[in-house]
Amino acid sequence: MKYIIVSGGVLSGLGKGITASSIGLLLKSAGYRVTAIKIDPYLNCDAGTMNPYQHGEVYVMNDGGEVDLDLGNYERFLDTDMTRDNNITTGKVYQSVIRKEREGKYLGNTVQIIPHITNEIRENIIHVSRDSGSDVAIVELGGTVGDIESMPFIEALRQLRMGEGAENVIFIHTTLVPIMGVVGEQKTKPTQHSVKELKGLGIQPDVIVARCKEPLNASTQAKISLFCDVPKEAVISAHDLSNVYRVPLLLLEQGITDIIYETLSMEPRTPDIEDWKGFIDSMESADKEVTIALVGKYTDLKDAYISHAKAISHASAALGVVPVLKWIESTDLEEAHDPLKGVDAVIIPGGFGVRGSEGKIKAIQHARENDIPFLGICFGFQLAAIEYARNVMGWEDATSAEFEIESEHIVVDLLPEQIGVTDMGSTMRLGAHDVLVADDTMAHDIYGSTTISERHRHRFEINPEFIEPLQESALTFSGRDTEGIRMELLELSDHPFFMASQFHPEFRSRPLRPAPLYHALVRAARDRR
Ligand code: GLN
Repeated sequence: MKYIIVSGGVLSGLGKGITASSIGLLLKSAGYRVTAIKIDPYLNCDAGTMNPYQHGEVYVMNDGGEVDLDLGNYERFLDTDMTRDNNITTGKVYQSVIRKEREGKYLGNTVQIIPHITNEIRENIIHVSRDSGSDVAIVELGGTVGDIESMPFIEALRQLRMGEGAENVIFIHTTLVPIMGVVGEQKTKPTQHSVKELKGLGIQPDVIVARCKEPLNASTQAKISLFCDVPKEAVISAHDLSNVYRVPLLLLEQGITDIIYETLSMEPRTPDIEDWKGFIDSMESADKEVTIALVGKYTDLKDAYISHAKAISHASAALGVVPVLKWIESTDLEEAHDPLKGVDAVIIPGGFGVRGSEGKIKAIQHARENDIPFLGICFGFQLAAIEYARNVMGWEDATSAEFEIESEHIVVDLLPEQIGVTDMGSTMRLGAHDVLVADDTMAHDIYGSTTISERHRHRFEINPEFIEPLQESALTFSGRDTEGIRMELLELSDHPFFMASQFHPEFRSRPLRPAPLYHALVRAARDRR
């Protein structure tokens, strides 16, 4: 097992995750089996209870893990399904150590950060890597070196190299090279300080990936090499690019795989990235624009809907169109439809709570009445049923039990298994479940299959009482769970493209394999022009 540790210095948001996933992509394209582990030094056990405004989207794995959105990056770049264990948080580590302490597993010893917490971290990393059946594990340490909360992790990673052998562990440190003054001088001091900090914790980086607005000058490279004690060719320039999917190519050009092969005594294999290049080419040669409105509650923070944006870009690349995303705050729609003027498609993503729901319902009504291609996801699916119940069935009080409003028409109700559930973390209907798709439906045409597997994250569902009455008109529930009791897909026969799913197709979209529902939506938007 070879471990590639990616840490970050100077400041957050340097694209550590992109660097790490790009390296993973290159090694995978070279024929190595690669997994990725994301370490998040926060105290939450997982990302499931975190507000999207603070932390961006909660990403959902096949096994139902509610994890950091960076895992989405890894699954997309590596085109590999991972598990909840690929995300290690401080909360998870402490929870396990404290449980063992209560069980008396430490035989009366004083339980301490070193060695108990650090051992737990190290064992977790080793066990997840080995269980994945991979040759290489990319381990991304979240946060910035020097943060108090990442200290135990850094210590555990230092010990990992000691335990597994220097030929099996490589340290890659990402930093920032700012450009200052009128002459545009590239400054290396922040990098020097950050590496000094890392060395103070016992880790000498093997490679430095320096983010910079411009390509690093040879003199900048030489300076970093000298002060940070890494060979010049191991100072990699990660300058701004027009397209993030080009990062793997940039790293490859500078020989990052050769450095990794040499440091880790791996057989040098050349990555075959022709398909990836093809994907970039189709993305960059697309010229026809389609405008897609995404109506949500956290649209100021684009990361809150990152998997949707990615799914749209995968589908657009495949169809040769340029997606123009129009982010619309749902509360802005409660007054008027104006923001939806001229859009080619509308997406209502997942969501929670009554705030903003009326604006979303208005957007659905607008898309339905004006033949605008529409895709509703999870909450968007539930609201599409409510909109239809109100405005087509004439059940004016149609609502969801989530909103706690008195009504004769609770069209969306709590899942029976959710009754009495009070804990918020990891208690929804989660992860991949099979969905049976009905023959002779649009959904069947799109998926080309009667059994599909998609990821879920919800507490509410279509109230079984209203399934039959709702289906008497143009609405069809074209997908159900394997027991036939939970509605999973709905579509309208009197509309060019009106689809909604209780599940989240965005979590399974990959650059070279766009999610079918997104592909169909973007195609409908394109053909509408
Ligand atoms: N709030 C809804 C539910 O819990 C939808 C959840 C979601 O969109 N992920 O069922």
